[in-house]
Formats: sequence, structure tokens, C-alpha cells
Amino acid sequence: MGELNQIPLKTDVLIVGGGCTGVGIFRDLALHGVDCLLIDAKDFASQTSSASSKMLHGGIRYLESFDFALVKEALHEKNLWLKLAPNLCQELPFYLPVYWESKYPFLWMTKVALKTYDFLSGFQNSAHKILRAKETILKLPGIKKEGLKGAGVYYDAIVDDAKLTLECLYDSLLEPNANAFNYTKIDKVEAFGDSYKAELTNTLTGEKNSIIAKKVVFATGPFSDDLLMNLGFSWKNRLLPTKGSHLWIRKNSLDIPYPLVLQTFDGRIIFVIPQRDAILVGTTEIQAKGDFFDLKCSEEEIDYLLKNLQEFFPAAGVSRKDILSTFAGIRPLVKKEGGNAHNTSREHQVFRPGKNLYVIFGGKYTTFRVMGREISSEIVHGFGGTYNPGTTLQALRQPSVFPTFTPWELSEQAVLESLSHEKVRTFSDLIHRRMGLLSLSNWNHKKSFVDFFTGMLDDMSRYIIVNKAEITKFWP
Ligand SMILES: Cc1cc2nc3c(=O)[nH]c(=O)nc-3n(C[C@H](O)[C@H](O)[C@H](O)COP(=O)(O)OP(=O)(O)OC[C@H]3O[C@@H](n4cnc5c(N)ncnc54)[C@H](O)[C@@H]3O)c2cc1C
Repeated sequence: MGELNQIPLKTDVLIVGGGCTGVGIFRDLALHGVDCLLIDAKDFASQTSSASSKMLHGGIRYLESFDFALVKEALHEKNLWLKLAPNLCQELPFYLPVYWESKYPFLWMTKVALKTYDFLSGFQNSAHKILRAKETILKLPGIKKEGLKGAGVYYDAIVDDAKLTLECLYDSLLEPNANAFNYTKIDKVEAFGDSYKAELTNTLTGEKNSIIAKKVVFATGPFSDDLLMNLGFSWKNRLLPTKGSHLWIRKNSLDIPYPLVLQTFDGRIIFVIPQRDAILVGTTEIQAKGDFFDLKCSEEEIDYLLKNLQEFFPAAGVSRKDILSTFAGIRPLVKKEGGNAHNTSREHQVFRPGKNLYVIFGGKYTTFRVMGREISSEIVHGFGGTYNPGTTLQALRQPSVFPTFTPWELSEQAVLESLSHEKVRTFSDLIHRRMGLLSLSNWNHKKSFVDFFTGMLDDMSRYIIVNKAEITKFWP
């Protein structure tokens, strides 16, 4: 998988940022035979790209702002990934209950919206349905009955966001011209003849390296404004950073077999999505500032999400005791005059702050492949190559050791395989993004996990720095 220990002295394209956006560009370039190097200051997919609502979706909400082109493109991408990576995403019916006090209180309005959604998917979506109140209650027994008029049912997909980014990365690394280093941050970049010289630091060891790159792409999401200004670019704030938090709650705390889209008391929507052995609840929308790395969900955000659950599931008694874990991320929205977090478009934008320099952010997880195509095609043409837009339509070739939606055994052999082949650098990389633990209720098996990993300490130490304290930090 192109696992070189040494950062090369030069590359044609240096991509900074290993979330879905950077990896989308990387894969497209790699498959076009372009010599490219991807770096991330932390683990790949460890920031926004593992803190999403974990949906590949057109965005039912964006119909409200007539963002039809974005919805159409995203629906197309969603249906494409269901074919390219069926192990990482699943289509499910999403239930949208309608109440007298909802923002859109008439079922015919829901019908029009869902018809439009199906139409924009080119009828690739499974067809929507409209349910009356009685049918809705049969499907969702615990839901608030007072004022319920019925529900719309439409189809979107759930996804393992971190894994999709990682599997795209592993797929790219099958190409000999592609290489990637996590825990490598860019500290400085300056012109060097027709190219750029970048100084890089390994954030785990402090080791410094420099590299000459003909082109540099910044796919650093919500970190872009600060980073570009720190690097001395003539750059003003172009982001509208918007925090969103989620809760994982116990599966048995709500009696819902399907994902729900709740129209909240403050005119927003939140998703409640049963997945494997837990339920994902989110999200909030708060304008944010400060350091965006490794964010936490605040007490106020927990209160807000619980309050909505209590409103729509009055008999369930959901409370803090049902929370398994929480996570938060920043939407890297492109700032627009007079825009706020709610009304700002999810369109992405490409900036060119200098010759052979690119900055890209905005967009949605669902559309990362087409975002990558935009930059990759320009670069391939710039090098005099032929760009084939169909290149990234091939299925991913390197599945993760630990699958997402099918059960796996806790085996020493699988852990060692992941440690040696999946760019794991820390124990947290292994259990969070490679194994998918913690977010779900594997908490039930705390003791067996601690015993298992403690028994493997010597073997794991051949690959990462880990000790007993590190393990019990995650399962105290
Ligand atoms: C709460 C929330 C819910 C969302 N839900 C959905 C959803 O359900 N569906 C959907 O389609 N979209 C969703 N989105 C949007 C989607 O998650 C983001 O658009 C996408 O993940 C952004 O990815 P990115 O690669 O641009 O940024 P990131 O994933 O943040 O990647 C940027 C990377 O840059 C790295 N970096 C920063 N500084 C440096 C440096 N100096 N050197 C090297 N690397 C650096 C960071 O470590 C990071 O890994 C959601 C977003 C949020 C916040």
C-alpha cells in the first residue's frame, strides 16, 4: 500500500488535509497516474470527516432554499456510492413526521417535497410514501401522537464516514505514484523556482522534513482560514465555521426501527438514526470560533438534543443516562454576505491564492468525489495529461480489515493486520476509526476489550506506542 517510511524529497502535487475532501482529490489524481503526496496533521478522517451525521443524502432540507442543483448532484453521488462501496453505506427509509405545529404542517407539502426529491434523483431513489397518522403510529409506536397528521417516507443512505475516507485512501495507495502520511503538518510554504518548498513536522515525533512540490492543494476544511493566514498567505476569513454535535444513545432508549427526521420547535430539523446497536441523534448548528481540533459537544448542546427527543418521545424518558458518547465537528461553510449557519448554501468553492496553489472547502461529505474531480481535472490538464471523468467510478479495491455493517470477531490477527496495513499510528486511530469502537455501545463489553488489548500489548508495541494506561483511558 505504498507505505514508505520516508517523506520523499519532491512530489508533483502535495495535498494538505486528509479528510474526505483531500482524499477525494488524492484518489482522483492517484488513479490518473499523477505523482502525489497527502498529509494530515492528525489521523486521516479524524476531524470533520468522522463527525458528520453519517448520511449520504441529497439534503431534504435544501429543497426549502431551492438548492436543486446541489440536491440533484448529492442524490446522484449517494446512489453511486451505494454501488461503489456497498459495505460502507446502506439505503434506508427516513420517516418525516408531520404535526399541526410543524413548519410545514400539511401532508400535501411533504408530498410535493418528496416527489421533487425522487425526481431530482432521476428516480434512482426508492419511491417515497405518505402515511396517515394511524399508519405512522404503527411504524413508530413511541412517537408523540398529539397533533400528528402523518409522515412522509423517503430514501437516503447511512454511511461510515471515517471508513469511506479511509477506504478511498487505501484504494489510492494501491497506485505506485501515491503516498500518504498522517500526523504530518505543514508549517511553512514558500516559492522555490517554479515550485513550492514546504516544511513539514511529524506531530508525534517532532521530526522535520521538507519537500518540493510543483503544486500545493489545501483541503483543510474548517482549519483553512487560520492555517492560510498563519502560513503568511494574503488571505481573509472566508469560512463560516458552524459547530454541530451529536449524541450516541442506547438502542433500547427509543422504540424506532427506522431513521427519523424531526422538525424541531425552533424551525430546524434533527436526525434520529438507529444504526447497528445504538441510535445517532443530531445535530446542532452554532456559529463557532477558536481552536477547531478535537472538539467536544457542550452541555447546552446535549440539553438541546435531549429536549427535542423528550418532546417527540414523551413516554420514553430519554435522559443523560442513555447517552453512550458524544462527538462534535465544524461545518466548513463558505461565508456569504449576510448568511448564517442555517441559510448558507452547502456549495463548495475553489480558491487560487497563487500560481499552482489551490484551496477548497465547503460542500458536503456526499459530494466529495465531484469536488475532487474539479481540482484533479485542472491539475491533470495542467500537466498535459488526459483527464477521464469516469476514472473514479471504479469500485474501491481495498476493504478495511474491520467491516462496518457486518459483525466481526475480536481477533489478534485482525488487529495486527490493521496495525500493519491501515496507517494506524496511535491506539486511538485503531479503536476509533479502524475498528469503529466507542461510538457504539461496545461499552457493554468494556472489560473484555481492556483484557484483550492488555494481552496484546507486546505485539501492538511493534507498531504503535501503547501501554496499559492508554488502554484504560478509553475504557476507564
Ligand atoms: C455536524 C456535521 C454534520 C454533517 N453531516 C453531514 C452528512 O450527514 N452528510 C454530508 O454529506 N455531509 C455532512 N457534513 C459535512 C461534511 O462532514 C463535511 O463537509 C466534510 O467532512 C468536510 O471534510 P473536509 O475534508 O473538507 O474537512 P476535514 O474532515 O476537517 O479535513 C481537514 C483535515 O485537514 C487537516 N489539517 C488541518 N490543518 C492542517 C495542517 N496544518 N497540516 C496538515 N493537515 C491539516 C485536519 O487534521 C483535517 O483532517 C456534516 C458536517 C458537520 C460538522
